[in-house]
Amino acid sequence: MEIEIRTPACEGYGLCAETAPEVYELDDEGYVRLKVEEPISPELQQLAGAGARVCPVAALVVRE
Ligand code: SF4
Repeated sequence: MEIEIRTPACEGYGLCAETAPEVYELDDEGYVRLKVEEPISPELQQLAGAGARVCPVAALVVRE
């Protein structure tokens, strides 16, 4: 699993990082970034997917 980050779409709501703090964080400018290497390890995939789904602007796209 990989996560495509559509940075222009990210509006810094931070819901992804609240939902999956092990996977996502916000950088100094308020844009999301991954905290882990890709491909996402199996034990973090469910959490990564959940964090992507809560994004209100669909800035995180899951690629299986
Ligand atoms: S939930 Fe979406 S808009 Fe908010 S920080 Fe995460 S990727 Fe960006």
